[in-house]
Amino acid sequence: MNEIEKTILKMLGTKENQNKYHIYKIKQEWKNLIGNSPADNCYPVKIERRVLFLNVNNSVWANQLMMLKNTIIKRVNECVGCEAIKDVRFTIVSKNIKKSNFTEQKEIKIKQEEYESLSSEELANIKNSLNDIEDEKLREKFFQVKVKQEQRKKYLEKKKNKKCKICGTFLFEDEDETCLNCLREEKEEIKGEIFNFLKKEPWINFKALQKKFKCDKMLYDVVKENMKAYYFEKIKYKECSKEEQDYAVSLKLEKPLEEVTATEYENVLKHLRKK
Ligand SMILES: [Zn+2]
Repeated sequence: MNEIEKTILKMLGTKENQNKYHIYKIKQEWKNLIGNSPADNCYPVKIERRVLFLNVNNSVWANQLMMLKNTIIKRVNECVGCEAIKDVRFTIVSKNIKKSNFTEQKEIKIKQEEYESLSSEELANIKNSLNDIEDEKLREKFFQVKVKQEQRKKYLEKKKNKKCKICGTFLFEDEDETCLNCLREEKEEIKGEIFNFLKKEPWINFKALQKKFKCDKMLYDVVKENMKAYYFEKIKYKECSKEEQDYAVSLKLEKPLEEVTATEYENVLKHLRKK
């Protein structure tokens, strides 16, 4: 590996990016690496955790190349100039998949005019990060590449990948402002609040609750149904205290206990025990 390549790899930073660079290089040299005929039937796809993934046209070629595995590993590592891979995995694909499918860039293409422009501070930061490169022309080239990378990153963050307002992870297309995880947690918190209100005042119905605490009718129903199930079950099997029994009646009739007549009270109990 020469100095320029070392610099490139350093600039690429993450292992993932470095692997992409290796794959790019391997694809360029593929025919030289394994020979014309094998290269027509087997294409490099990606490197992950030091494993090179190859798509093969059929099982005959897969078997033949399997026997050449060690040679492939050796040649590939020589080609990229470091121990980039330690294993090869073959995937048999149907023959009608064109070779171009494997070389096509999957990255989202963005038109030049859609790029976000960078502030002078951001540009200065990029310049500073390239101070190590002595060759002026090379430095300028890298500068241009880096600027594009940064612009792209900014663009994606702003327009394409909106982030969750709570945890900051990138949102999926069907999510709006809040990711599903946070939304779930938020809902759990709201349910907790509703539970606390119902615990204190079991008679409170949805309309009355809205004056004290804004929430979704569906969440209110879920919490209330769960509470009902819990207490009614206890009554059914006569496992509850007097306090719990009072609570269950109030929950069922949506009335404070003071407003419940003795007959109403008995009827509710009879009804719940029968179930
Ligand atoms: Zn989130």
